[in-house]
Amino acid sequence: MPMNTPHSMRIWLSPPHLSGREGTFINDALESNWVAPLGPNVDHLEEELSSITGSPQVVCLSSGTAALHLALILLGVGLGDEVIVQSFTFAATANPVHYLGAQTVFVDSEPSTWNMSPVLLQEAISDRIRRRGRLPKAIIPVHLYGMPALMDEIQAIARWYDIPIIEDAAESLGSTIRGEPTGTRGEFGVLSFNGNKIITTSGGGALLTRSEHAASMARFLATQARDPAPHYEHSTVGYNYRLSNIAAGIGRAQLDMLEHRVAARRAIYRRYQRDLGEIPGITFLDERAGYLSNRWLTTVLFDEEVWGELARERVRRALATAEIESRPLWKPLHLQPLFADSPRYENGISEQLFSTGLCLPSGSALRPVEQEEIIERIIAALMYS
Ligand SMILES: *Cc1c(COP(=O)(O)O)cnc(C)c1O
Repeated sequence: MPMNTPHSMRIWLSPPHLSGREGTFINDALESNWVAPLGPNVDHLEEELSSITGSPQVVCLSSGTAALHLALILLGVGLGDEVIVQSFTFAATANPVHYLGAQTVFVDSEPSTWNMSPVLLQEAISDRIRRRGRLPKAIIPVHLYGMPALMDEIQAIARWYDIPIIEDAAESLGSTIRGEPTGTRGEFGVLSFNGNKIITTSGGGALLTRSEHAASMARFLATQARDPAPHYEHSTVGYNYRLSNIAAGIGRAQLDMLEHRVAARRAIYRRYQRDLGEIPGITFLDERAGYLSNRWLTTVLFDEEVWGELARERVRRALATAEIESRPLWKPLHLQPLFADSPRYENGISEQLFSTGLCLPSGSALRPVEQEEIIERIIAALMYS
């Protein structure tokens, strides 16, 4: 997330939560002089992620954005191609499409998960075929704020047209659909370990895939695409995208705590919902049957018909005055000046979410007294301002 918040904030939206064991893994790396670039922590982190997600192949990278970039390259996305991207997300989901000279085509959300609408996805694909005579090269749904997207429906459409899926699971490590972790159903899945995510390596990400070949190509491209030779021989454009052994050490300590972090964030969500959910004009996003969200961020909607215009901003400013960070939901990418030229298939849902929705402090170390204060200030901002 963009970090333009004043330093005076006392309560942050989603600060890093250290386990206390990060130092042990970092010291091991230091003592064995294995500071960079790869090394045993990276191998272990990949194995542990593979066993937690069930993804046969995991490649740890310097960021989630790098993982998206490599996934697009491995799917052959290039100049003039189109890629369908969920509009309601962070710009990092879409930027790598443009690194490759391809065009983003934005698809709006549906109300039950706030993620990609299968109805509009279907419409977008048939319209792109009609206009361009060819298929989009990939589909990128996002499990936003940890809530899994309607993957059954999205996959059925993708399979029908034979278009590969890249799941942006940057916010949803620990989330599942009928017990199956997000990020493991598409051709590729993408995780992020940025500082504000549910676990962090300070900065980092991972690419998930079932294909051993794709994983080895990803490793090749991520280490400057060095052909096998005693000197440095190159026949492909490469990148410097691998995760360092130090960062991976932090990740191992963090990953050990994942279950606890998910439980803590879910408990925070339940408390917000218990204390605010009965108030008219305040809406939370329930899980569908069989869905489990890691509740990376608790999100809430303030109905303007009940609480007046810009109710969301009233609450956000009241919290900021009390040095509590909150943030509007993602501004849909089809409304961003950067992507003004991208085709879009919209239904108004993400726009509505953006104008009425707020992300509340959800860090797994948030203390009950802090959460109580947040809740009281939200109620006061609505009722008395
Ligand atoms: C954080 C995030 C990314 C990018 O991950 P980085 O590790 O920060 O590059 C991509 N997509 C979404 C939805 C994210 O929240």
